[in-house]
Amino acid sequence: MSLKPEDLLREEILALRPYHVAEASGLVKLDAMENPYQLPDPVRSRISGLVAGAEINRYPDASAGALKARLRQAMGIPAGADLLLGNGSDEVIQILAMGVAKPGAVILGADPSFVMFRMIAAFVGARFVGVPLRADFTLDRDTILGAIRQHRPALVFLAYPNNPTGNLFDRDTLTRIIETAPGLVVIDEAYHVFAGESFMPKAAAYDNLLVMRTVSKLGLAGLRLGLVAGSGEWLQQFDKLRLPYNVNILTQLVAETVLGEQDVLEAQAAAIREERGKVFEGLAALKGVSAFPSRANFILFRVNDATGVFERLRQRRVLVKNLHGSHPLLTGCLRVTVGTPRENQTFLSALSDCL
Ligand SMILES: *Cc1c(COP(=O)(O)O)cnc(C)c1O
Repeated sequence: MSLKPEDLLREEILALRPYHVAEASGLVKLDAMENPYQLPDPVRSRISGLVAGAEINRYPDASAGALKARLRQAMGIPAGADLLLGNGSDEVIQILAMGVAKPGAVILGADPSFVMFRMIAAFVGARFVGVPLRADFTLDRDTILGAIRQHRPALVFLAYPNNPTGNLFDRDTLTRIIETAPGLVVIDEAYHVFAGESFMPKAAAYDNLLVMRTVSKLGLAGLRLGLVAGSGEWLQQFDKLRLPYNVNILTQLVAETVLGEQDVLEAQAAAIREERGKVFEGLAALKGVSAFPSRANFILFRVNDATGVFERLRQRRVLVKNLHGSHPLLTGCLRVTVGTPRENQTFLSALSDCL
């Protein structure tokens, strides 16, 4: 009798569905909330120089001091808050979840929201409690406060704006959650540059609030760099779980340099915000499409026969994300990332052919 995975692995791991990344070569790629713009040539040349000169025979700066100083300035981290860096904010989520995963520990989030909150809870053996959103994707204050009172989560994850719905939850509700939760509350601000709202200024004001950011949606998804800001007392403990050198030398050098180019990054974000308005109008003008207002760099929309529309879009070489079937509230829903003006035009005209 040969040994099988079922004999050895935890049940919740066997039950996981793998995180699916769609094949995208040759397609207009509007499925993953990437920034569609390359950096300007002078910045790319500087990156070439940095990479050529990097001492890749040495381990990177373990504390990433220069990069942290740059992040503090570029992201407005309050003086009283500490920072912890991850290989993408996915790794930050994992570090936080590992830290609290005592037997019986609960991690709570909105539902639907970012799938990694639920998946990582399973990785670490914590119980995930999903608090259902309303049909319009707003967060019901009494429902979530009741769930927090009932389940006493060690960690609450709230994406602000939420993925995949694109909306910002009510700020007062989040403040109430921070003030009443018995554990830590993580506000995930992956889409901050598109939202114009933030809890970062409060990162040192509550000892149970952690504010998470990433450079991925800003235009640096390939570097893999995320961060969390909050009380040093907490982050020094979580830092023990961070693998040494988790942020590699090329990421440290390139991110430090590019984050110094605030004008470039802000111009790209502004272009995406403007295009978001045009894509929304384009969707709203199509018969049989209902689009949900977004404060992020993507738009969720509902059609009849979402899977058919998704497939027909792909035949026209446009890749979006099909969320139909992933959650009852997302029935009929597709999610499109805002691309360049040309990509968005291609998408809208392909979509009108596919309905
Ligand atoms: C995309 C996304 C992330 C992942 O960020 P990485 O830094 O690329 O790991 C985190 N949270 C939310 C809500 C996201 O949508």
